[in-house]
Amino acid sequence: MNGGQDAGRVVVLSGPTAVGKGTLVARLRDVPGLRVSTSVTTRPARPGEVDGTHYHFIDDAEMDRLVAENGLLEWAEVHGAARYGTPRRQVMDAVAEGLVVLLEIDLQGARQVRDTWPDACFVFLAPPSEDELVRRLRGRGTETPEEQQRRLRTAEAEMAAMAEFDHVVVNDDIDRATQELLSLLGLRSHPTT
Ligand code: 5GP
Repeated sequence: MNGGQDAGRVVVLSGPTAVGKGTLVARLRDVPGLRVSTSVTTRPARPGEVDGTHYHFIDDAEMDRLVAENGLLEWAEVHGAARYGTPRRQVMDAVAEGLVVLLEIDLQGARQVRDTWPDACFVFLAPPSEDELVRRLRGRGTETPEEQQRRLRTAEAEMAAMAEFDHVVVNDDIDRATQELLSLLGLRSHPTT
């Protein structure tokens, strides 16, 4: 079954590491009619990340339990480092409420959602260029050089999959990219503007 008869919609946002998905999603949290899905992850929280907002930070045993119970709409091991997944229940509930539900997930997860929820909208956030992507990843300084290399390898594979998506939004300017995504979804950042 898919979500066709439900009131809301599922939107999948993917794109390579460091393209700015996190910044974009942060700007979408207060948009009326939109619910940002909160994933579970086995990776440790980074400084400033809040449990229950950015992710639900869980251990391997809890992840195993969720997978075994079919409690995740999709899940994947990302960058060969940690597991991430979308709790099924929160997506179903938000769709039933008539909301647009945004899943910011990796390519493997996007492909799983396409199999189970084919009428979801698939959006790829792309960097203006691959050089710019490398610059952004090095510049943010949250990963070790080894981790950066691993993420860049994943990014190459993700860039190659861009054509699988319904829409490509280029993150040349965060304000412009945010507005483009909102208009794609038929949403506005404030109800009266
Ligand atoms: P980060 O560790 O930088 O927060 O995220 C690493 C990658 O995990 C990003 O590409 C992000 O899109 C992906 N990710 C975050 N949550 C999920 C999820 O629930 N499922 C999948 N498949 N990927 C996720």
